[in-house]
Amino acid sequence: MALFITDQCINCDVCEPECPNDAIYQGEIIFEIESSKCTECIGHFEKEQCVVICPIDCILVDPNNTETETQLRGKFELLTEQTYDPLTIQTGLICPSSENL
Ligand code: SF4
Ligand code: SF4
Repeated sequence: MALFITDQCINCDVCEPECPNDAIYQGEIIFEIESSKCTECIGHFEKEQCVVICPIDCILVDPNNTETETQLRGKFELLTEQTYDPLTIQTGLICPSSENL
């Protein structure tokens, strides 16, 4: 399931650099997520980095864009041209760059 950003977004821009797939971008009004690039961070991180760092919790799962974990792993492999490997997934609860916040 890809994620989406609700209209409560305050355009703080902290999520965009944390996305391992470059799926987040500044839209016309608020930040948006390109669903074809969002893997829910599968293959990269244990937790969705944008969700972890968003200060107002306005990033939600998109019920209209459901994908199984297998599909998300396949999307990861397509985007990164790497084989999914659970041993390389970072398990930190917060994004590395947020440690200084
Ligand atoms: S869940 Fe991960 S891949 Fe999807 S938009 Fe957020 S940071 Fe990017
Ligand atoms: S972190 Fe949240 S509030 Fe900030 S730009 Fe991203 S979605 Fe919007």
